[in-house]
Amino acid sequence: MTIPDVDRALRPVTAGYPSPAGTAVPNGTALPAGTALPGSAADPAGGGTTAPPHPQSAPQSAPQSPSDPAAPPGGFSPELARRDVPILHRTVNGHPLVWLDNGATTQKPRQVIEALSGFYGAANSNIHRGAHTMAREATEMYEAGRAAVARFLGAASPDDIVFVRGTTEAINLVAQSWGRSHLGPGDDILVPVLEHHSNIVPWQLLAKETRARVVPVPLGPDGGIDLDAYADLLSVRTRLVAVSQASNVLGTVPPVREMTALAHRYGAKVLVDGAQAVAHFPVDVQALDADFYVFSGHKLFAPTGIGALYAKPEILGDMAPWQGGGNMIESVDFSHTTYAPVPHRLEAGTGHIAGVVGLLAALNWLTSFDRQAVAAYETSLMAYAQHTLAAVPGLELLGSAPDRIAVLTFTLAGHDPAAIAEWLDRDGIAVRAGHHCAQPALAHYGLTSAARASLALYNTPEEVDQLAASLLRLQQDT
Ligand code: PLP
Repeated sequence: MTIPDVDRALRPVTAGYPSPAGTAVPNGTALPAGTALPGSAADPAGGGTTAPPHPQSAPQSAPQSPSDPAAPPGGFSPELARRDVPILHRTVNGHPLVWLDNGATTQKPRQVIEALSGFYGAANSNIHRGAHTMAREATEMYEAGRAAVARFLGAASPDDIVFVRGTTEAINLVAQSWGRSHLGPGDDILVPVLEHHSNIVPWQLLAKETRARVVPVPLGPDGGIDLDAYADLLSVRTRLVAVSQASNVLGTVPPVREMTALAHRYGAKVLVDGAQAVAHFPVDVQALDADFYVFSGHKLFAPTGIGALYAKPEILGDMAPWQGGGNMIESVDFSHTTYAPVPHRLEAGTGHIAGVVGLLAALNWLTSFDRQAVAAYETSLMAYAQHTLAAVPGLELLGSAPDRIAVLTFTLAGHDPAAIAEWLDRDGIAVRAGHHCAQPALAHYGLTSAARASLALYNTPEEVDQLAASLLRLQQDT
C-alpha cells in the first residue's frame, strides 16, 4: 500500500470542520461549570497573556528569563504554543491555570481536539475491512499516522511501528511476546533504579514466568545511572536492558546510546522507554540503535489511549502474537490458523482509530516548531526554575544529573507533598504529589513521596515565578 501524504490524509477529517477564526474552544467542547476563558487562545497576542517580563524577584545572577524579548531571532517562544492550547486559558479556583503536571499528561492543542471531533463528525469508520469509501479513508488516515510515527522516531519504515494503548502496553507486549520466547532460567534483565513501575513490573512478571532475574542498576548520588556498576552487571547472561530515555521523577537523561552499544557487545537487546523524552527533544531510534522504543501519545499532546512500539524489523518480524482476534490473522480454521505479517499481527481487534488521527495531528503540531529551539527553550526554563525554586527556604530538589529534562521533584521542609499540591491547587497551580510510580527512585533518596512540577514547551518563566511565590507563602503562613 502507498502511504498517503499526512496532510492529504487529514483533509477528509477536517473538511467541513473549519476552525472558526478567533475561536479558542471548538464547538462541542464543554467546560466545567464555573470555569472562564480569559481572552481567546487563538488571539495572536496569546489569549490575554503577554510575553512574561523579567521576574522582579530574580537576583542579578539569575539565568536570563528564557522568553526574554531579547531572545535571538528564530528562538522559540512559549506563546507560539500557548495560543493553540485552549485549556491553558481557563481558570482554576479563581486563578489562571498553571499546568505543571506535564509528566503525568500534556494538554492538547486545538489541532488535536479538532482532528478528533472532525474524525467522529465526518470520517468515522472501522479500518482494514469493508470496501466502502469511508473505510478506505479511515484506513488511509490510520496508516498515515503510522508513517508519521515512523518519521517522528527516525524509523526506517512504517512497518516497524505497532500501535498500542501507550507505553505500559508496549512494554507488556514486548515482555509477553519477545520476552517469553527469548528468556529462560538464569537470564538477566537489567533495569535501572530510576525506572517507572511500567518498566519494572512487566519484567518482574516475565522473570517469574521464565525464571529469569530482574537486576537493578544502581544510581549515583546525583540521580544518574551508575555507569561503572552498569558495566559490571552486564554479562553474557544479560538478555535485555530496559532503560528510560528520561526519568519521570529525577529528570535524568541517561546516555542511552552508549549504554546500548555496551549492551550489544554482550548480545543483549535494549528497550528504551521514551514516555518522558518524546515531548522534549528529537528522537532517532536508528542513531540510538535501540532494539525497542516505546512512548505514549498523551504525554506528547495527543489523546490518551494511543501510543506506539518501535522494534527493529528483524526482531519484530520474529515476534509471536500476544493477543488473538480480528485484524491480526491471515486465515482462521479450527485445524490451523495463520497470522498476518507485522505490524498487524501484534494489533488484535479494532484499534484506537480516532486516537491515531489525534496522534497524527499532535505530531504535525509539535514538529511545526523548531524542535532544537524548543529543547533549548526548555533547558533555559529549567535552569531558571532551578534557580528560582532554590530561593524557597527548606525546598530540596531531587536529582542533579548533568543531562535532564525539565522535571522538578522536590520536598519542602515541614510539609507533606500532598498538602503542598493541595495548597498550590488553591492558587490554580497543578503539580503532582506521591510516589510518581517510581518508588525505587524515591527510595534512593530515602523518600516515599515528593512533589513534582514538570514543565512543557508552553510553560513560562512567569508561571515558575507563580509556583515559587505560592511556595514562599506556604512557608511563611506556617
Ligand atoms: N514510563 C515513564 C518514564 C513514564 O513517565 C510513564 C508515565 O508516567 C510511563 C512509562 C507509563 O505511561 P502510560 O501510563 O502512558 O502507559
